Amino acid sequence: MELEWMAEGKCRDVPPSVFFPNDGVGVEAARRICADCPVKAPCLEYALINRVDHGVWGGCSERERRRIARRRRLAGAETEAAESKPASA
Ligand code: SF4
Repeated sequence: MELEWMAEGKCRDVPPSVFFPNDGVGVEAARRICADCPVKAPCLEYALINRVDHGVWGGCSERERRRIARRRRLAGAETEAAESKPASA
């Protein structure tokens, strides 16, 4: 996976600890930085694909990423089930 986007992140000049908060207030602070980051989308995809469990990535907390991953799994399962159905004559 290409990682050049990391050099463009708004977090590049912010202490990493900001993106690994201990509470909801900290998550909000990180989200505000991510909000207009030019590489928000690839950052989120990176965290989802690599199953990064900790921290705020792409403006999403761990809990939000788990929800997105669950939705994607369900959508993938539904697509798979629909594709495996025999075509009706
Ligand atoms: S979206 Fe947030 S964590 Fe990701 S690169 Fe941008 S500022 Fe950093």
